[in-house]
Amino acid sequence: MGKAHSKFRIGERVVVPFTISCGECRMCKLELFSLCERSNPAGAKQAEQMGYPTAGLFGYSHMYGGFSGGQAEFLRVP
Ligand SMILES: [Zn+2]
Repeated sequence: MGKAHSKFRIGERVVVPFTISCGECRMCKLELFSLCERSNPAGAKQAEQMGYPTAGLFGYSHMYGGFSGGQAEFLRVP
């Protein structure tokens, strides 16, 4: 946990959604975080197959960015 964090204490339990969002792109600014335009490196390929891109997700396939699972005791957030 970085020094900038003051909201949580070490050892405190938190719930984190699987969605990865940048907080800065057009969709994130519209608070549509599951449609983040920057967190899924496979977004363009996904859009070809599904018709639209989504955000990257922890624990899903490479179509959703290939990020390792989010159901773990510890998680490193990119
Ligand atoms: Zn975003």
